[in-house]
Amino acid sequence: YLRTGGVCPEVRRPRRFLVLINPQSGKGQALALFNNHVQHMLEEADITYTLQVTEHQNHARELVREADLSQWDAVVIMSGDGLLFEVVNGLMEREDWEKAIQTPLGVLPGGSGNALAASIHYYNGSQPLSGEELLVSCGFMLCKGLVSHLDLTSVCLASNQHLFSFLSLAWGFVADVDIESEKYRHVGAARFTMGTLVRLTSLRIYKGKLAYLPAEESQALPSTSSSTMSLTDGSNSSSVHSRNSNCQNHHLHNSCNSNNAHKPIWTNETPVTMRGPPDSLLVPLDQPVPTHWTVVKEEDFVLVMAVYQSHLAEDLIAAPASRLEDGIIHLIYVKAGISRQALLRLFLAMEKGTHLNTNCPFVVYVKVRALRLEPYSPKGTITVDGEVVEYGPVQAQVHGRLARIIAG
Ligand code: ADP
Ligand code: MG
Repeated sequence: YLRTGGVCPEVRRPRRFLVLINPQSGKGQALALFNNHVQHMLEEADITYTLQVTEHQNHARELVREADLSQWDAVVIMSGDGLLFEVVNGLMEREDWEKAIQTPLGVLPGGSGNALAASIHYYNGSQPLSGEELLVSCGFMLCKGLVSHLDLTSVCLASNQHLFSFLSLAWGFVADVDIESEKYRHVGAARFTMGTLVRLTSLRIYKGKLAYLPAEESQALPSTSSSTMSLTDGSNSSSVHSRNSNCQNHHLHNSCNSNNAHKPIWTNETPVTMRGPPDSLLVPLDQPVPTHWTVVKEEDFVLVMAVYQSHLAEDLIAAPASRLEDGIIHLIYVKAGISRQALLRLFLAMEKGTHLNTNCPFVVYVKVRALRLEPYSPKGTITVDGEVVEYGPVQAQVHGRLARIIAG
């Protein structure tokens, strides 16, 4: 195996799956794709499954938050990355999150953005595949059932919302393409290429401040400082027994259909308790970053993306060195001043994952464990795992091996 670390020896081959299907994902054919390509494979591998078709946005999240997880050995999504994002956050909202997030996850690419599925396929050293071939490959992985660890990144937003991410945090060009390209979802994975070409014609600059903790510098802050912060943080923390020092009082979104794709999926309507390990590397957003962090001197960007998997889409290898459990956020940013042609070359090279070797002076790549981004413009788009979140200052830190995934 190419991936670092390897499999979790204590997990037996998962044989009872909860399969969640988003019928709206991709071109709207996820259910048929599952029936045609995956169903028989699972049956032959002696895997039993409960099929649940999601009825609205956040349905999967609510389901896994309430479910009796002992019925299943794995939770599998047949959709794009958005549905797994719901599952991960639903698991982290449970009182028993520490155990729940250990439930092996599985991905079947049924969406238009299937970055994690493409990444897992790539980590195995297999030749690149897309569409239904990638689906079949991922189906085989589920049958083999080798479970690996998966890093999660905890993301804190200005209103103290807190969420968990397995894929990416993006601002600028990439975030805009992600959202604008929703309208091309009928073309499937090609939507990102189309979105990129359209966005290139209206290329713009995004102003803000970026800071990060380089991977080689990352000792945790003294625990006293983080526990003190948790006492001073938040206005109704008495009702929220969060173990996170910086991200209390986050709230559950409740938007309900795919027409809401451009609105943040997290709104301040229903309070829920988000748990999770303490963010030992972060200080509250209203305090300056710790002095051993690096503050980027440029404040004009074309894009900032923090990725923790190799792929951002089936044919975009944003961080070729990334692995499931490397404990690293691969931070890539492009400074203002890059020409349209150079940016186009960059995205074309990203299809092969060679964009970081081009010596383009506007492109910076650093491995970090935590970062903070403070956009200056009052309006804009930030995405987490391809989903729009509340716009404003945001910070994140990686938590190595927090989750598990069937990946071999
Ligand atoms: P895609 O890659 O095609 O975008 P995703 O899995 O990312 O597929 O899903 C897109 C969005 O649809 C996500 O925000 C997800 O939460 C939401 N969603 C999930 N189930 C449903 C449903 N039944 N109807 C509408 N939206 C849904
Ligand atoms: Mg999506």
